[in-house]
Amino acid sequence: MDSSTLSKQDLLEQALHLLDHFRILILEPQEAELHLTDSAQWAPYEQALQTLLESRRLALALARGDLSYELRQKGALAGALKSLQANLRHLTWQTQQVARGDFTQRVEFMGEFSVAFNEMVYQLDAMAKELQTQQDELIRRNDSLILEIAERERAEAAEREQRQLAEALQSAAMALNATLNYEEVLDIMLDRVGDVVAYDSAVIMEVEGMSARVRRAKNYHRYGEEVEKRVLQTEFDIPKTPNLFTIFTTLKPLVISDVDQYPAWDRSKTGNPIRSWIGAPIYAHGKVLAFFSLDKLGPNFYQEEHAHKLEMFASHAALAMVNARLFQEIERLAVTDTLTGLYNRRYFFERACQEFIRSCRYQHPLTIVMLDLDHFKAVNDTYGHPIGDLVLQTISRLVTQTVRKSDLVARFGGEEIILLLPETTLQCGEALAERLRQKIATLSIPTNDHTLSITASLGVSCGNPANCKLEPQRAIETLIEFADQALYLAKQNGRNQVRSLLPSFAEKPTA
Ligand code: GH3
Ligand code: MG
Ligand code: MG
Repeated sequence: MDSSTLSKQDLLEQALHLLDHFRILILEPQEAELHLTDSAQWAPYEQALQTLLESRRLALALARGDLSYELRQKGALAGALKSLQANLRHLTWQTQQVARGDFTQRVEFMGEFSVAFNEMVYQLDAMAKELQTQQDELIRRNDSLILEIAERERAEAAEREQRQLAEALQSAAMALNATLNYEEVLDIMLDRVGDVVAYDSAVIMEVEGMSARVRRAKNYHRYGEEVEKRVLQTEFDIPKTPNLFTIFTTLKPLVISDVDQYPAWDRSKTGNPIRSWIGAPIYAHGKVLAFFSLDKLGPNFYQEEHAHKLEMFASHAALAMVNARLFQEIERLAVTDTLTGLYNRRYFFERACQEFIRSCRYQHPLTIVMLDLDHFKAVNDTYGHPIGDLVLQTISRLVTQTVRKSDLVARFGGEEIILLLPETTLQCGEALAERLRQKIATLSIPTNDHTLSITASLGVSCGNPANCKLEPQRAIETLIEFADQALYLAKQNGRNQVRSLLPSFAEKPTA
């Protein structure tokens, strides 16, 4: 319908209708449908309504935070809203950049908001920088704390190891000092060295002159019976054994990380399959007494620290060995006659009493022989005292070499030698005495410019301890008295002969 044909009333209604649309678009929450005329007269208003509707949609989307609404309309309001939308989009992007850590973002297009945003970004930047500094400081402190902890742990581990070493050494020293028995000392040494330096197998070699003899060995049976047997029998010529020669001459331990790389290692000697070796001299006052020789099956086991530990242990062991040897020597001296090297009279009595008790238990006979050199005074008078001493020494040696190991030989007095023959009948005792007499009589003793010969008289007595009611000491004294009397008889009878006399307990016990 043409507008010119419309009545004023209709026009008014249409204008009001249009205005109502404006009202709804501007004020009402719901979106009303636009029912407009197709009159060209209203077209600009309709376009304004359309623009308002689109702008309202964009504004509502913006209010919801939705920046995606595409507004195609033009005009001042639409333009402003689109500009706001573009600004907000750019701001969103900038905020995202800030969120990613780009604090260079600045907003220049939104007035007060720009100022606030820029201030916020500036503050964030400052805070981030401050945080970064603090974090860097924390990391630095953390790193140094980790280092400190690691250092402390290392120090504690080292201290613990030192303490364990000191304890092991102290405990070993106590065990070593607890005995003066040389053989026990060797056992303890081999046993305890393992508490300080680990080994799979080990030996202690005793050094005498330039040779080293295996005295104690441990764990070689692991490598087979034959290896163990060979190790136990091994005697090393020190100058011909480079590793031993090194520790012998330097007085320092030696580590061989891999014996396969040590050209001088002789595997054929014992067939020992080990790969790592450590050796140390056990020495006192510069004199090597023994060697420790420790093995590990795998290569590259022993290090310098082991050498250090073994050296410390060896010094304790050396002290114990010296003490035990000294004690052994004192004990030997206490029971030995200095001129002849035979046992002395006191020790003879002690041992004879023990033998008597033993013979009593096993019901064995016991024989005592007294030997006295004939006219020995004349030897002294003729050749002088030193030659007399030489004769005494020679005869003592001859007697020792003639008797069994189990027999006991002692110097009883000046030129009197006494023999205790355990498990020996009178008959056997007499036979031995006769053999001694003959050997002495046929012996020529070389002196400075001539030789001399001498004879001896011997008295024999034999008892059966099981048949004796006397105390052991009294019984021994009785046997000695009878042997002495028999000797006296031999002297009386012309010397250079054997005589016997039996005490009452010589007879076999009656059933
Ligand atoms: P008989 O055949 O009767 O035993 O005569 P004898 O000369 O051997 O006996 P006597 O007991 O009279 O002399 C023992 C001598 O032994 C006296 C002493 O000078 C000597 N004599 C004792 N001990 C030693 C010693 O250690 N060295 C030396 N050279 N002589 C000693
Ligand atoms: Mg004499
Ligand atoms: Mg005499």
